[in-house]
Amino acid sequence: MRSLKSKFGALMVASSMFVGGSIMASTEIDMIYTHGNVYTVDAAHPKAEAFAIKNGKFYAVGSTEDMLKLKTKHTKVVDMQGKFVMPGMVEDHIHPDMAAENIMNINIPTPEMTYEEFGAEITKFLKEHPDTKWIFGGPMNWLKDHEGNIDVWNIPSNHKVLDKWVNDRPAFFWDLGGHTGVINEFAMKKYGIKKGNKPPKGGSWDYDKDGNPTGIIREVAANMIWEEFLKERPSPEEQAKRGFIPVFHELNSYGFTSITDIWARPWNIENYQALEDMDRLTTRVTIYVTDPVDWHGKWIKKLTQDLIDKGPHKYSDKVNLIGIKFVLDGSAGGQTAVMKEPFIGTKNRGFWRNDPEYFKKKVVEYDKMGYVVRAHAVGDRAISTVIDAIEQTRKYGSTRRHGIAHTVFVDPADYDRIKANDVLCDMSPYFWMPDPAIETIKADVGEERLQWIFPFRPLLDRGVHMSAGSDLTVSPINPWKPMEGMVTRQLPGGVGKPVNAKDMAITIEEAIYIYTMGGAYSEQKENEIGSITPGKFADFIVLDQNLLEIKPTQIHKTKVLSTFLGGRQVYRSGEDVPHITYKERKNVPFMGSPTHQ
Ligand SMILES: [Zn+2]
Repeated sequence: MRSLKSKFGALMVASSMFVGGSIMASTEIDMIYTHGNVYTVDAAHPKAEAFAIKNGKFYAVGSTEDMLKLKTKHTKVVDMQGKFVMPGMVEDHIHPDMAAENIMNINIPTPEMTYEEFGAEITKFLKEHPDTKWIFGGPMNWLKDHEGNIDVWNIPSNHKVLDKWVNDRPAFFWDLGGHTGVINEFAMKKYGIKKGNKPPKGGSWDYDKDGNPTGIIREVAANMIWEEFLKERPSPEEQAKRGFIPVFHELNSYGFTSITDIWARPWNIENYQALEDMDRLTTRVTIYVTDPVDWHGKWIKKLTQDLIDKGPHKYSDKVNLIGIKFVLDGSAGGQTAVMKEPFIGTKNRGFWRNDPEYFKKKVVEYDKMGYVVRAHAVGDRAISTVIDAIEQTRKYGSTRRHGIAHTVFVDPADYDRIKANDVLCDMSPYFWMPDPAIETIKADVGEERLQWIFPFRPLLDRGVHMSAGSDLTVSPINPWKPMEGMVTRQLPGGVGKPVNAKDMAITIEEAIYIYTMGGAYSEQKENEIGSITPGKFADFIVLDQNLLEIKPTQIHKTKVLSTFLGGRQVYRSGEDVPHITYKERKNVPFMGSPTHQ
């Protein structure tokens, strides 16, 4: 049934309909969508006009005339009036739990929120939840080293920023990058963050000039406090209702029907199952659990390990646990990306967040358990290390889809090794899109290595598997701006100087492929989603403009009119979508912050 098309396809279907009464009943078509401008992303038949849906899956794809021949007694027919239709998109790197947690607590949806507005949110939350044990939220618009000023607020990064609003219970806020937090004085006292005490392994905290901790806590030291907050988490039903439903609704509004939760906590599966039980899971979810090394507390390490020990598991058509996530290095802006050569004007080659030897050993272990591994790697040396680790598994014949997350500074010498070892590259086109922060990065890495950023063209030319993700809550989920950047290598609307456009730019068809089939392949679902093909789930979106006909500089204006998951509408334009996840930023550096990962 894979290649049904036009007359021949219709004949095949027709002949199967004449087999007998009982078969007749099972060939009842639920829906036929006609007169569309359908871009299928199916290489065999890229364009079509109509499709038929049965039991939540595409049954046939072709011309309006042929599809209408399949109409049975109860079939509903919808005229798409020439609209552009494509497969539902795959968001292959996202942290929905971070967004959900902020929404359930104190969400800072815009970088332009003033300090007074922030305080008003805290006061309101305390009034509405007088018994709350914690004041928690984010993402805060960049906490800085050495008590440097927080952007927009222009007040120093230390505990006082919270003490003013809450001093009778612990408070914790994440920085935008999700690797650094700030706590209030109450929390510092309660959890022993004081002069003389050392931060836990893998973490650090900042000190003022007198050697007192400032309340800025990093990496595992931030986790240590965050995990105390997580102990008090609401039930899965509660988290599903108040946290995840709004996040998924917003994802649907941008055309996403499948996501990869790439650093999942062990209980996220229960949250997704709770959503399924309520019939409110409106995207498919592929899960990578974080390796226990990234947690601090014994209790959470154990929960994670117990889940990992059970092995990969398909929980339903929508929920699938396939992998383990590692974080190897940091970021360019903070000079924590692990580089082969030092950052300009320094001897610093970056910072291993986790031991690369431990990582290499675990890749083989997980591979043998049936898991895929994805590792955050920004610097060229960290990327080379991931390739080395995957190469070990190729030596004994493993074909698992291990990959690199972010894939930023790729040494051109590694392009062929990426292909030879079939390394999957998850790209972050939003935060590597040319923007004013590029100047900061240039100062850190120099002109030559700047040209290595986000090398779509040379990797595609070699046939490397690629996918894309926003890394929410780090970047907004809107895919249309980064998609335009992939084609133009410029800011939306063709603003500013292109960055290595000649060598790295790709076509809109290639960009769509990365956001659909590329993501589906990464999620090990290329036979289920990613294209409008008979037999696959009827996940599709209707847009307000034809991506293949408009000027590339218009791509960022795209609006989704409707989103369908398994044939069912999960979003229609005009619906009130809660504005909850991080809003578009104006000239806010994506890579320039010391805390950005
Ligand atoms: Zn991430």
